[in-house]
Amino acid sequence: MRTFNQGGVHPPEYKLTADLAIERMPTPARLVILLSQHLGKPAKPIVGKGDKVKKGQLIGAADGFISSNIHAATSGTVHSLEERWPAPTGQYAPAIVIESDGTETWADGLNIDEEKPLELSREEKLKRISDAGIVGMGGAGFPTHVKLNPPKDKTIDTFILNGAECEPFLTPDYRLMLERPAEILKGLEIAASLFSKDTKIYIGIEENKPEAVKAMEKAAQGGPFTVVSLKTKYPQGCEKQLINTITGRTMKEGQLPFDVGALVHNVATMFALYEAVAKKRPLVERVLTLSGMEVKNRKNLIVTVGSLVKDVIEHTGGTTTEINQVIIGGPMMGKAQYTCDVPVTKTTSGILLINNTEIDSLRERPCVRCGKCISACPQGRQPWLLADLGQQRRLGDMPGCGLMDCMECGSCTYVCPARRNIVQWIKYGKAVNAARKR
Ligand code: SF4
Ligand code: SF4
Repeated sequence: MRTFNQGGVHPPEYKLTADLAIERMPTPARLVILLSQHLGKPAKPIVGKGDKVKKGQLIGAADGFISSNIHAATSGTVHSLEERWPAPTGQYAPAIVIESDGTETWADGLNIDEEKPLELSREEKLKRISDAGIVGMGGAGFPTHVKLNPPKDKTIDTFILNGAECEPFLTPDYRLMLERPAEILKGLEIAASLFSKDTKIYIGIEENKPEAVKAMEKAAQGGPFTVVSLKTKYPQGCEKQLINTITGRTMKEGQLPFDVGALVHNVATMFALYEAVAKKRPLVERVLTLSGMEVKNRKNLIVTVGSLVKDVIEHTGGTTTEINQVIIGGPMMGKAQYTCDVPVTKTTSGILLINNTEIDSLRERPCVRCGKCISACPQGRQPWLLADLGQQRRLGDMPGCGLMDCMECGSCTYVCPARRNIVQWIKYGKAVNAARKR
């Protein structure tokens, strides 16, 4: 069974929603659509208060090379343009608030049926992907049309579908692979068609998802795909680890996947890409998992972008006990929220609700020099040192330590017997470094 070459941990899986079919949550009466749901500059608003909008209509235009379009996720009226705080990132973010008219009327020219999307020109495919505001839906939110258009001197020979979904609790990609494998593979084929015909296409799925392996193998029959079963180990779904597992290539510090001839795409992203190219449907909804031990009705839901987290919780009937922490994403890499008044974005793969009995005291104690964080780090770093430097704001010492090579997977924090907030201090160090540079 294949896996990556160093580090990794085995947190309990808690895939409590694995057997639950995807359901659709009705669009709430009011949506808060952030203009920054992606990596790069926020989109520029192109509508004003009181404007009527239709579903799928462009309301925020990509601003610059690394940016992405934002669309009305339902039809209705623009209620306001505001600086929203807090956004799921914990920071301020510009937003457009839309009051739904309840009709879900699509804008003209969208929601079509393209008979042969594979035969469209390269330019048309990229245009549709860019127009639809497709971004990496696994968490990073990197604009997909940019990722699919690497510098001319880079040769891509390997295309990988990331079906690892190694974060505990989360199951949206798993359910998509079971329920919509054909569309995911069509999206993957469209994306791969932008490169040489000899490009190898792999589908990487962890061995703890045998049903997904079977579903994808069946759908992939006769196609240019190779399904690869991966050893279950966190963080198998991180780009660098997946590339290493499947190709044996290792990305050096500062390198991007195209530097080693590979591109990795998430399952939900390929589904959205298929809808963008074959149906001209902008990215206005996504599948997410609502889970937690005390959630009354855990679900895999299609949720309209801009719905509030509290809308999603209310829709499913709430929890059996009081909840003390709400995390967007999974427990390893997700972000704890200040409030449930934050909107679902294109990158919200899950909402995790946790009560007090499940939260560790998180009281940091001094490092005992056990070295467990070093053994766990899949990037071969010394996490205790990066955390120390971050905590002490010793910024001059950081560049040589591989700080930027840390992908914030949290494996070090997970294994630390002293309960040090290692990844939190690393993130802090990165933020201070970035601020200094600016
Ligand atoms: S969070 Fe960073 S330092 Fe810690 S294990 Fe992951 S990659 Fe290594
Ligand atoms: S795991 Fe924790 S206690 Fe052990 S060396 Fe790393 S930081 Fe120190």
